[in-house]
Amino acid sequence: MKRVLVLARTFGKYSNEPLALLQNNGFEIERREKVDADGLKGFEAIVVGVQRITREMLLNSSVKIIAKHGVGVDNIDLEAATELGIPVTVTPNANAVSVAELTIGFIFALSKKLIDLHNNLYQKRQFVSNVGLELHGKILGIVGFGSIGKEVAKRALCLGMRVLVYDPYVEESNLRELGIEKMELDELLRQSDFVSLHVPLNESTRHLIDREKISLMKRTAYLINTARGGVVDEKPLAEALKSGQIAGAALDVFDVEPLPADSPFFDCPNVIMTPHVGAHTYEAILRMNMMAAESIVDFFNGKIPKHVVNRDVITKLIEKGFSPQS
Ligand code: NAD
Repeated sequence: MKRVLVLARTFGKYSNEPLALLQNNGFEIERREKVDADGLKGFEAIVVGVQRITREMLLNSSVKIIAKHGVGVDNIDLEAATELGIPVTVTPNANAVSVAELTIGFIFALSKKLIDLHNNLYQKRQFVSNVGLELHGKILGIVGFGSIGKEVAKRALCLGMRVLVYDPYVEESNLRELGIEKMELDELLRQSDFVSLHVPLNESTRHLIDREKISLMKRTAYLINTARGGVVDEKPLAEALKSGQIAGAALDVFDVEPLPADSPFFDCPNVIMTPHVGAHTYEAILRMNMMAAESIVDFFNGKIPKHVVNRDVITKLIEKGFSPQS
């Protein structure tokens, strides 16, 4: 019997469907939340969430496929997986709507000061008002126009916002058709009332928003990060929030998670924070569960799984007799 190690916390937590899919196809499932250097030993497949998967772990194992429960693969040593011929699959689009809705929620919360109003009334019993902003006519700068960025843009346009995009890999003409303006990052930062980050974390995006970029933002602007903590240099961001250099920020992701107790963000009254919950809706979780389980089942049925990110492995799989899927 093939053994699958499930590291993703929410896999099969709210529905039996993904577990049943694996079990009905002859897999034995073991769940863990942490994994050490020898932790993958004895498993043929893993469903991974945010846990770090290193070269050493893969070398110490007989893992043949890694199904990432999500789309960010910065926690997996892709180079090692590729060298070892291990396909790494992701679940694109499964959580795009959920993350986009959280982003729009953040924009509402920041512009209407919802958290302060609630805390004043609920915790301090103070019936005090706070003047907010209308979103209509405001400028939203989207950094990274992939699955999530697109869903955010659609919703912002419905609210009457003007949408700017920075994404070197997207055609300008495609954006113009949608009524969206493509521009360089610096110009987007200078113009935007809200800047929302939707890029993957990689060498080109680490600290993409650093001290210098933050200094380009308007004093009245808000930064929203639902991508990855490492995309923003957190120290200058916290300083900019404390000094009023920007108006506020909403953060779902952090450089170190869980957020350490000494994080400078705990001293910033103009920040809204959530514990990396962008993809945490029942709908998105079930979609991610099923896509991850299907990747594993397909692979062991001799099919090239859908959404392999280390595409170089596909040639090796074809050589081994795996069949492509339409
Ligand atoms: P995606 O791959 O569909 O889109 C990423 C976009 O970023 C692409 O259009 C790409 O061209 C663009 N990009 C890449 N490098 C860039 C750069 N240097 N500058 C500007 N643009 C660049 O991914 P997605 O599904 O939209 O997700 C984006 C990221 O959101 C993920 O990589 C993940 O880290 C994060 N995410 C967070 C949560 C959460 O729970 N908060 C959930 C899902 C995804």
